[in-house]
Amino acid sequence: MRPVITWGDPRLKRVSEDVGAWSPELEQLVTDLFETGYAEEGLGIAAPQVGVNLNLAVVDLSCGQDPGQRTVLVNPEIVHEEGVQKGPEGCLSIPGIHEVLERPKKVRVKNRRRDGSWEELEGEDLLARAYCHEIDHLRGRLFVEYFGPVKRQVIKRKYDKSRKG
Ligand SMILES: [Zn+2]
Repeated sequence: MRPVITWGDPRLKRVSEDVGAWSPELEQLVTDLFETGYAEEGLGIAAPQVGVNLNLAVVDLSCGQDPGQRTVLVNPEIVHEEGVQKGPEGCLSIPGIHEVLERPKKVRVKNRRRDGSWEELEGEDLLARAYCHEIDHLRGRLFVEYFGPVKRQVIKRKYDKSRKG
């Protein structure tokens, strides 16, 4: 497990770098990301959220219940979007905040496997939302940044208040 950094930390704003050759350190990072995500009850977590600015993220909608749903995103890129969905979204780096946000209904993601070969992943509904959310982290973008300045201020105040307990 690794500590999750939160909204306001400049490391969440950085554009991450591509992952190079696979290594035991990267495998450890993947293990840590899954464990951290499960401990925090998240559906996914990106490397920048533990302060590592690499294009690496994990998604598991089953939150550890179904090994078949464990996805490792390496240098991922959305190559196709289709439709629109509207639903609540949250982020482990902005605990306590859930806001309704529009996302594509379906996405296709070009993704590198650990061995360097490429695959295409398809995501629909919640999985499409998770892919978009995690890939945004790799580009230095938080989901609250989709909202205008006024709404973002309201969210920030709510967030700061909840952090003070
Ligand atoms: Zn997030």
